Amino acid sequence: MSAWIQTLVKRKRTKIVFVGLTVTFSLALILMVKLQSDTEQPVTKTHKVIIRTENAESTTVTERHKMAILVPFRDRFEELLEFVPYMHDFLNKQGTAHQIYVINQVDDYRFNRAALINVGFLESGKDCDYIAMHDVDLVPVNPAIAYPYPRTGVYHVASPDLHPLYHYKKFVGGILLLTRDAFTSTNGMSNRYWGWGLEDDEFYVRMRRQMLEIERPSGITTGYETFRHIHNRKKRRRDTAKHFNQTQELRHLDKKTGASNIKYTIDSKTDITVAGAPAKIINVVLDCDLKDTPWCLKPEYHTVYKAKGLIP
Ligand code: UDP
Ligand code: MN
Repeated sequence: MSAWIQTLVKRKRTKIVFVGLTVTFSLALILMVKLQSDTEQPVTKTHKVIIRTENAESTTVTERHKMAILVPFRDRFEELLEFVPYMHDFLNKQGTAHQIYVINQVDDYRFNRAALINVGFLESGKDCDYIAMHDVDLVPVNPAIAYPYPRTGVYHVASPDLHPLYHYKKFVGGILLLTRDAFTSTNGMSNRYWGWGLEDDEFYVRMRRQMLEIERPSGITTGYETFRHIHNRKKRRRDTAKHFNQTQELRHLDKKTGASNIKYTIDSKTDITVAGAPAKIINVVLDCDLKDTPWCLKPEYHTVYKAKGLIP
């Protein structure tokens, strides 16, 4: 073997030994890492991740959402004095962030629950991402009744299976929760329902047209005893009178009026506390288009307005 061939063979041997060592070392390393990961690592890792996710979810649910409770109101002072502290306490106990708004109708037209809810929606703080339309005389007595952020856009708390008085399937009155987006999609409620009744049934049709799915409480075992309805029918008479062509006009879906074109002025706003519980009072003067809805007038005004040619 010549000298240069000998050097070449030597170099080749060193190379083979070097490559061999590298391969062995790498294999050992891979094996070590694998062994280690096969033993303790995945258990702790997965466990930790799950715990973190759960924590993150539960904090966002309570922190992120806030409910504006819109209470359409006129002349129900005793009920309000019970409602504010009771609901504040009830919701705090279940960790539901909320702000109570009392939408007080101070004009002299007949009561208009739906229009007041529209005003409440427009005037309530944008820090609230969902609303509750809430009668002042209806409160849950079963603590299992929840006021969640509606996953489907709408959650009917006072469901017909639980409301003490109204048991028909399409009933959506009493207490109804909506996300701001869902309420906007229906253009809110109709402004044409002066006097008692039907505005909630019309709103049911509005929601159906938007294909909103209504969720309701499940697993409540207290039936018609779930809520307390603080309503003395002699003291708090329902204004069920029908004037002019009111009955025919309000039988159909109103495609014209809603939250986007309601006319009103704010008389004043006041913050109050009742037995330590806070609420915002919004005093509202509603506007009525006498040509479109002459039935907004109380009957005692009919003669004078007729004489002036303002109503038929
Ligand atoms: N309401 C009011 N003053 C009135 C009429 C109605 O404050 O003169 C409000 C109040 O929040 C009430 C809701 O509208 O709970 C529904 O009216 P009501 O109780 O007369 O209807 P019900 O559901 O009992 O048939
Ligand atoms: Mn009532």
